[in-house]
Amino acid sequence: MAVRPMVNRDNAYFWDGTLAGELRLQRCNACQALRHPPGPACPDCGALDRGHVVASGLGTVYSYVIHRHPPVPGKELPILLAVIDLDEGLRMVGEIVDLPESELAIGLRVQVDFAPVDDELSLPIWRKAD
Ligand SMILES: [Zn+2]
Repeated sequence: MAVRPMVNRDNAYFWDGTLAGELRLQRCNACQALRHPPGPACPDCGALDRGHVVASGLGTVYSYVIHRHPPVPGKELPILLAVIDLDEGLRMVGEIVDLPESELAIGLRVQVDFAPVDDELSLPIWRKAD
């Protein structure tokens, strides 16, 4: 069993995107500023009119933690968690998969992938970029 995210009106576009195999970033329709995590108003100009763009899905590890304890339901430890600098200039927290922990390093190039949980939920995960 996975830990399910809270899906609400402000972030539904994001989870609709991961189901469709897209990493979506919220964009202000007034000033075009990108933002993540999603929110109702633009932090730059305050506008409520918002849309989204599809990110390249490429980024660079900015920092990371290796979670060894305590246990997480349904997960094998360790879990590699990184703060990723997206090529679009935003930061996002993500789980790095299929990587020996000795290879996890600041500056590592990563690319997004999607792990289906069920028909209604797919989680973004990150792999070492090709
Ligand atoms: Zn704005």
